[in-house]
Amino acid sequence: MPNAFFDSVIENYKNRDEVVLRFGAESALTGTEFLSSVEQASKKLRLAGLEFGDRIALESGPYSTYVVTVIASLAAGAIVVPINPNATQPEIDYVFGDATPKFAFGSGAIFKAVAKELRYEQKEYQGVGNDLKVPAGCTLLTPEILSIEKLPISSTITYTSKIDAPSLIGYTSGTTGKPKGALLSLGNLYASAKGLIKEWSWTRDDHLLHFLPLYHMHGLGVGLFGSLAAGSKITFLPRFAEDLLFESVAEEDISMIFGVPTIYERIARDLRLPELRKLRIMVSGSAPLPADLFARLKEVLGDGPVERYGMTETVMNTSNPFIGVRKAGKVGRPLDGVSIKIAADGEVLVKGENVMNGYLGRPSANQEAFTVDGYFKTGDQGEIDDDGYLEIKGRKKDLIISGGFNVYPKEVEAELRSYRGIRESAVVGRPSELWGEEVVAFIECDEEIDVVDLREFLKQRLSTYKVPKEITIVEALPRNNLGKILYSQIRQNFQN
Ligand code: AMP
Repeated sequence: MPNAFFDSVIENYKNRDEVVLRFGAESALTGTEFLSSVEQASKKLRLAGLEFGDRIALESGPYSTYVVTVIASLAAGAIVVPINPNATQPEIDYVFGDATPKFAFGSGAIFKAVAKELRYEQKEYQGVGNDLKVPAGCTLLTPEILSIEKLPISSTITYTSKIDAPSLIGYTSGTTGKPKGALLSLGNLYASAKGLIKEWSWTRDDHLLHFLPLYHMHGLGVGLFGSLAAGSKITFLPRFAEDLLFESVAEEDISMIFGVPTIYERIARDLRLPELRKLRIMVSGSAPLPADLFARLKEVLGDGPVERYGMTETVMNTSNPFIGVRKAGKVGRPLDGVSIKIAADGEVLVKGENVMNGYLGRPSANQEAFTVDGYFKTGDQGEIDDDGYLEIKGRKKDLIISGGFNVYPKEVEAELRSYRGIRESAVVGRPSELWGEEVVAFIECDEEIDVVDLREFLKQRLSTYKVPKEITIVEALPRNNLGKILYSQIRQNFQN
């Protein structure tokens, strides 16, 4: 049975003798070697007992063993559960309890085996290199099982994978409670990749410099699966660092980078920024790209990053155009095959081949997650303008209702950021007897700020109910690995 994703990967990389995946200074695979490695690894996994529909938890990292094993497991028809290498043992235990994988591997073991190959120190890597402790019933794979020969024995992949079968479980906190496993098929990932390939004019000639986590939709779904579907090349960095980025762009034929707003903020402050003019495309996602940051990058580079919008459950939904007008503060139009509408309460609803079937083992959450006409409820608030561009106004649960008025944190944060010396801000609702919720702000500053002057400034720009009742200067806002501000954690502090 044909599988359009695997067929395109085979077509893109067969008999290709140039390096297409580069991991560390000493580790690289040509197209032929990549296909051959996947083929060998897939056979070994099947011999070890991996069967169609089995789950395999793989602790992610920017090394060949991980990338090859992900694709090899999928070829064998298994369901990959990518693990965050920075997860704590209780978080890992939770995912293992929920996903009940039959096999697993951890980066601790892998690092011992491949550190030499990578030629970078374990401490340089974004993860911690866990020696996974797995529950009974789950077999921990050894580096020997996963070790691959670089001999180009075959230039094809024999797959049993079906395009519509579950293939990947992405854990996401969604709107409430414990993380849920979004069950994606290769068809979901491939549909999204095809939409992006068209929108970004992404081809085999592209070369992505990859420095995002490989367990999350941005780095995995867009970075890895998108590149493989486009047939482009990838150079993986152990983590994001300005020096590594600028050195790689200077030395190699890099044409694309994918980043999150906090990374673009660091790039925008770097004096070497003009060197990025040689990139064909820069993409931003995972969190809102502030309009002023877009404008600062545009001034130096000729245009700002292409901002796109997606999530674990739906891979990618919209993008600003590569060719055409990129609107600051908007996430663009629906990708090919994606349909978007806004519910009466402002929630963004999405339908298309990119959307998951549901969460693993959560019948009631699944019922709540979709509308009667089959749209996925994203939990984001949005508006569509006359040109069809979507603006994300924030997470529904982050919306503040103060004295009956809706306050979108993003609007207040944009004003705060426009004030000299404020680097970043987070605006949240604090429970209040009088107002229901009252608006409060936390700010990270580059210089000393007079909060009284700041409030005066805001009063001239915002209706009174939107002006924060209290503004607190903090050293650093709580963020996750992708630089997303953890609003729930800030709110949690009020409760404690
Ligand atoms: P995750 O499932 O971790 O990828 O988180 C998805 C959420 O990130 C979305 O529901 C949005 O709230 C947010 N998000 C992703 N991309 C953007 C963007 N370009 N602008 C604003 N929010 C975004």
